[in-house]
Amino acid sequence: MNIHEYQAKELLAKFGVPVPAGHAAMSVDEAVEAAKQLPGPLWVVKAQIHAGGRGKGKFKELGPDAKGGVRLAKSVDEVRANAEEMLGKTLVTIQTGAEGKQVQRLYITDGVDIAKEFYLALLVDRATGRVAIVASTEGGMDIEQVAHDAPEKIHTITVDPATGLMPHHGRAVAAALGLSGDLAKQAANVTAKLYDAFLGTDASQIEINPLAITEDNKLMVLDAKVGFDSNAMFRHKDLAELRDLTEEDPMEIEASKYDLAYIKLDGDIGCMVNGAGLAMATMDIIKLNGAFPANFLDVGGGASKEKVTAAFKIILSDPAVKGILVNIFGGIMRCDTIAEGIVAAAREVDLDVPLVVRLEGTNVSQGKEILANSGLPIVAANDLGDAARKIVAQVKVAA
Ligand code: ADP
Ligand code: MG
Repeated sequence: MNIHEYQAKELLAKFGVPVPAGHAAMSVDEAVEAAKQLPGPLWVVKAQIHAGGRGKGKFKELGPDAKGGVRLAKSVDEVRANAEEMLGKTLVTIQTGAEGKQVQRLYITDGVDIAKEFYLALLVDRATGRVAIVASTEGGMDIEQVAHDAPEKIHTITVDPATGLMPHHGRAVAAALGLSGDLAKQAANVTAKLYDAFLGTDASQIEINPLAITEDNKLMVLDAKVGFDSNAMFRHKDLAELRDLTEEDPMEIEASKYDLAYIKLDGDIGCMVNGAGLAMATMDIIKLNGAFPANFLDVGGGASKEKVTAAFKIILSDPAVKGILVNIFGGIMRCDTIAEGIVAAAREVDLDVPLVVRLEGTNVSQGKEILANSGLPIVAANDLGDAARKIVAQVKVAA
């Protein structure tokens, strides 16, 4: 689960991380009010969307010469003019995809005189199973380019969970950023506070880009991207409330209501599978046969009729879907129960695309019989390879 920059900064400030003052605004009036509460003489008006690259982003409705999603303002009137221009517009950045994201919230914040910009992030390093701190002197707007062109400028420091963050980690971050004296102390301090925030919120990532040195030698967090481990949200009810559903894919929201793990993809073959590993294998074999999956969908171990129906509806609500491949292994769930669920769901949703079903496991012959006797145009498959070939062929014929 991700949150907006302003929410991330409010959260980090509670842990003692230095951030400039600022206020969120949902309207032009609120933006003006927010600006009046800040001292000036420099303000920054920042589009709040769940995507980075806003500074270099472009608004769809404005010309190519218009400014991006992060704008300096030298007066309250300039804040007003920028808020008027940005709210409700669609911002396209390197991370939003071509369709962009509509700006519904702004963040009005103190403008800082920047001497230098660094990159500092904390994330879960799956290879070592530890929290990793990633630091680079090459902060600002093009960290992806740095990672590509000059990976040696990116330093990674992992923290042993048995010891937690130690003073040497702080010194290592300072060294990676080329800092000494008081700034080195500040870097160690910011690192410690970020680490506390990371553990305290069950974060999956905290990315600060830029971490700036100001002209008066203070380290300040100017941009923050924070994501949490969704599996831990049950113990952070206050954080769960920060979720902004308008930033999420409507089909993924619908899927989360039924505990279905669903991710929309770009292809045209809808997949319904139980088990994440089997879902991955199913997507692979569809690709191997020359087509692309329209989604990842894991209905989980206890795939009830309700879940199967919800999954069908979600898959079919995607206009890109030209055929569906159901690949279920009946272990705990018996194949006949699953087959009944599939038939009932197919009837309920008025299935109008080809459906190939591969069942395997307990009571598989009864399951296949139920599908065959349903009167529905369900194509049965014998194994995974057979299923993939059949659905790809059906979709090609229909095209
Ligand atoms: P994004 O990463 O989405 O482009 P940032 O918040 O990093 O958005 O802003 C882009 C750039 O704008 C920063 O690298 C920084 O140079 C500048 N900037 C952001 N916030 C401030 C601020 N409060 N004061 C001065 N400059 C800022
Ligand atoms: Mg940034």
